[in-house]
Amino acid sequence: RIHDAESHEVDRDGNPKFFLNNLIGFVVDGRLVRVWGSQRDITERKEAEEALRISEERYALAARGAADGLWDWNLEENRVYFSPRWKAMLGYEEWEIDDEPDEWLGRIHAEDRERVAETISDHLERHTPHAEVEYRILHKDGVYRWMLARGLAVRDAEGRAYRMAGSQTDVTERRNAEALLVQRAYFDPLTDLPNRTLFMDRLSQAVARAGRLRDYRFAVLFVDLDRFKVINDSLGHLAGDRLIAEIATRLRACPRPGDTLARLGGDEFGILLDVIDSVADAAAVADHVLETLSRPFGMDGNDLFTSASIGIAVGSDHHRTPDELLREADIAMYRAKATGKGRYVVYDSTLHEYVTRLMRFENDLRKAIERQEFFVDYQPIVLLETGRLCGLEALVRWRHPTLGVVPPGDFIPVAEETGLVFPIDRTVLYEACRQLRVWKERFDLPDDFRVSVNFSAKQFTQLDLAETVREALAATGLDARHLEIEITENALIENAEVAEKVLGDLKELGVRLLIDDFGTGYSSFGYLHRFPFDTIKIDRSFVSRIEGREGKNAEIVRAIAALAGGLGMEVVAEGVETLEQAERVAAFGCTYGQGYLFSMPVSAHAIEELLAGGR
Ligand code: C2E
Ligand code: MG
Ligand code: MG
Repeated sequence: RIHDAESHEVDRDGNPKFFLNNLIGFVVDGRLVRVWGSQRDITERKEAEEALRISEERYALAARGAADGLWDWNLEENRVYFSPRWKAMLGYEEWEIDDEPDEWLGRIHAEDRERVAETISDHLERHTPHAEVEYRILHKDGVYRWMLARGLAVRDAEGRAYRMAGSQTDVTERRNAEALLVQRAYFDPLTDLPNRTLFMDRLSQAVARAGRLRDYRFAVLFVDLDRFKVINDSLGHLAGDRLIAEIATRLRACPRPGDTLARLGGDEFGILLDVIDSVADAAAVADHVLETLSRPFGMDGNDLFTSASIGIAVGSDHHRTPDELLREADIAMYRAKATGKGRYVVYDSTLHEYVTRLMRFENDLRKAIERQEFFVDYQPIVLLETGRLCGLEALVRWRHPTLGVVPPGDFIPVAEETGLVFPIDRTVLYEACRQLRVWKERFDLPDDFRVSVNFSAKQFTQLDLAETVREALAATGLDARHLEIEITENALIENAEVAEKVLGDLKELGVRLLIDDFGTGYSSFGYLHRFPFDTIKIDRSFVSRIEGREGKNAEIVRAIAALAGGLGMEVVAEGVETLEQAERVAAFGCTYGQGYLFSMPVSAHAIEELLAGGR
């Protein structure tokens, strides 16, 4: 058997020597019995080969095209040859950069420098077959560029590197494209906030950490804007987007450093509180969010008000998946919405049952429309001076198959969230118009007798609302002046633009317009000038506290009545329960009264008896 092998050794002076060994082995019965061989000194040939290899390498690098810069580092003298192209890539002329290694390393971004140094030394110490690293380097124009450097060490006979050479390629464009892809995959383009994917990723990390660390607690806040859909529908998507962006800007100030604020979808935001001591920490952030959003948003010169409902779920173990935690926060948020919005609720296990019930309720509500389970009660409105009946407010009720009669306060908010309020309000409108038409024929009612119908704020997203009303009047044969529409202030604030148009159309129809629950909303007085209202209904919270000493409430009632009088509007006092209240509101300038003192809301049948009795 013949065997060739190269070996290298060191001579007496320590110089590397290369040898070529030719060995012949004699094998008998499978055993090596003798080796004969010769050895030839090939040191000179080896050195020539190596020199060739290096020059070939440089040539190969150079041939790679004008795009790449070349560098060649003499490690013994610690000098670097930078090619003209290398320097040009950084915006420098040939003479502006000399051969110091620091011309290179010194320009590398501080965050990348260590990584580059490590990559080089790893290769020099033979941990890697070649060096390859990407880093940012400062261009003469002051902007960092992304570069890819590749390099190879040249070693002496002992394997000690005495030279390292390589290329530098500008990869800025590729890097930017990658960054953009990452941005798109993990960030929301409208707000630049992390998106749901990134949020869930961070949440997974928190869950994993909770599995490792005994005392680690974190919290998820699910933030959902109240009535955003209404704003979006009425002001348009562009305005809606702008509002979302504004809100995101404000929300950024709420979490603490290290927390994650993300846009989870349309009008939903998520906040991951990375480390908390107790629920109180999460509650504090939730309070901060609510407070931040309570300030009005300036939109095209209008003040837009919004609020949010927040659900909080606290995680302290790894027993729940990220999805389960988010769902808990979502359920708690749902609860916050149903109990009045603009607040936060912390999840606990009883909520689950609650939400299940709520969903069943929603389902029932849907069916209720098909099965016509809604009916209308009427509450008299009287002239305070004489007690004469001059109108009725139509108030909807739901005869639920198992729960009995459900008051509107319990289902209108749910109906509004689900859009079911439209058919409900329509039913009431038709029924009230029809009923009054019938009564007008049967009884001798005063000419200005009217029926009031409540319209949800949601209705004011419908530009063709006046058309719906016109159809109802036409279908029932009721004259427009006998119909009054009650609108709460919120409807105006949320959709000022659309409301203005719709109210104008209604006014043209000849329908009367009433502003309900007056005094409970924002900037009320401004709206009186802007919109064509005929009547103000002062909220019962003022009326109920008017007794006794002349307090602040009395002042407000007096001011509202005076202002309304000045604008030629009528004033109804709502929730009048005692004689004293009736006398006071009358003295303060209210013309009409409505409340338990005169009558509770009663059935159509009861009203009929009242009218028949001529009272
Ligand atoms: P609202 O329009 O302010 O109606 C007056 C509410 O006050 C009625 O409650 C009425 O029963 C109650 N009330 C009347 N007099 C007194 C009183 O002397 N003392 C007290 N404490 N309360 C009094 P109800 O029927 O439960 O209606 C609640 C709200 O539901 C209404 O407030 C209205 O905003 C809404 N609503 C009622 N019907 C409809 C409807 O058909 N469509 C819409 N969208 N909302 C409706
Ligand atoms: Mg009302
Ligand atoms: Mg009211």
